[in-house]
Amino acid sequence: MKSIPFLSFEKMHSQIKQEILQQFEKVYDSYWYILGKEVETFEKLYAKYSDVQYCIGVGNGLDAIIIALKSLNVGKGNSVIVPSNTYIATWLAVSYVGAEIIPVEPDEKTYNIDPEKIEQSIKENTKAIIPVHLYGQICEMDKILQIAQKHNLYVVEDNAQAQGTFFKGKISGSWGNINATSFYPGKNLGALGDAGAITTNDEILSQRAKTIRNYGSQKKYYNEVKGINSRLDEIQAAFLQVKLKYLDEWNKERQQIAQWYMEFLSDEKNIILPHIHPDATSNFHLFVIRTKKRNELQEYLHQNNIGTLIHYPVPPHLQEAYKDLNYKKGDFPIAEEIADTCLSLPMYPGLEKEDVQHIATTIKSFFQ
Ligand SMILES: *Cc1c(COP(=O)(O)O)cnc(C)c1O
Repeated sequence: MKSIPFLSFEKMHSQIKQEILQQFEKVYDSYWYILGKEVETFEKLYAKYSDVQYCIGVGNGLDAIIIALKSLNVGKGNSVIVPSNTYIATWLAVSYVGAEIIPVEPDEKTYNIDPEKIEQSIKENTKAIIPVHLYGQICEMDKILQIAQKHNLYVVEDNAQAQGTFFKGKISGSWGNINATSFYPGKNLGALGDAGAITTNDEILSQRAKTIRNYGSQKKYYNEVKGINSRLDEIQAAFLQVKLKYLDEWNKERQQIAQWYMEFLSDEKNIILPHIHPDATSNFHLFVIRTKKRNELQEYLHQNNIGTLIHYPVPPHLQEAYKDLNYKKGDFPIAEEIADTCLSLPMYPGLEKEDVQHIATTIKSFFQ
C-alpha cells in the first residue's frame, strides 16, 4: 500500500542540495558565524520580498514577536488583542513582555480573527493587535488597520504561516507597524533549524529591534537597553537566501495541490473545506479540513498509511500553561469547535496529483 507522509522535504531539499552545500562551504570558510555578510544579505532580500524598508533577522518566530512588542514598548500595564485560535507562540509572546492577553474569536469560515469582533474587545489599556495569518491565509488587513487607526493601536502581524500571500494585492508582513515571521523548517520558507525575522517600514522601530536582538547593543560592549540574544545565524541566513528564491514557485505548487483537493473533495458532504476570502490569497501552509468524525477519520487515514496532524488540538485558553487565566471550556466556542474538528492533510511541494486523488478517495471511502 502506498504511504504518504504528512510532510516531506525530499523534493524541495534534493532540488537545492548543491546550492545549499555551496552556501555551507562559503560560510564555513569565511570564519565568521554571527551577524556578518550573510545575515545582512538575507535581510536585504527578505525586506525586498516583503515590500518593506527593513528586515531584522532573529533566532526564531517566537522571539520575533517578543522583540516586535518590546520595540513598541508594549509591556506591563498594557493589553494586546490576539486570536483565540492560534499557535500558542502568539500568546506566549504577549505573556513574556508582561502584557495582558485579550483573545478574540475567529471568523467561522476563514478561521482568521474576526474584524467585526475586535472593537468590542478593546480596553482602555489596549496597545496592539496581533493578527495571525492562520494556515497560510492572510487576514482581512484593511479592516484591522482601520480599527487600529481609529483606536490608536499598533498592529503586529504574526506572519509565521503566510509568507508570500496578499490581501488586496499587498503582501503579508508589510501591513503592520512591525511584523514577525518564523523560518522554522516546516514553514513555507523554512531554514534548516530555528530562525525568524521582523519586517517594518519604520526606521526607529527597526533600530530598536536590531538593538534588542543583540543584547541591547549597537556598539559592541555598550548596552543601551536590556536586550536578549536572538540573532539569525550566518549559516541559516545563507541557506535562507537559496530557499527564498524558490518560495514563490513552491507556494504555487501548494496552491495547485490545494486546488486538486478542492476538486476531488468538493462532493464530500461530511467535511468542510478551506474557505479563502475573495480579497485574500493563501500559500496553503496547511490544508485543513473539518469534520465531526475527526478522530475516527485520522485513525482511518493512519491505517491507510496517510499522515495527518491536528493544528491545534487544544486552543491556548485551555492549555495547562494558561490555567492561571482561569478560562474554561465554552469561553471561546468557535476556537474550541475548530480544535475539536480540524484535520491537516498532507501538503508540500512534491505531492503528486495521484497522491491527492488517493487521499481524497480514501477519505470518501471512510464516509461511505
Ligand atoms: C511557527 C509559529 C510561530 C513561532 O515560530 P517559531 O520559529 O517556532 O518560534 C509563531 N506563530 C505562529 C502562528 C506559528 O505558526
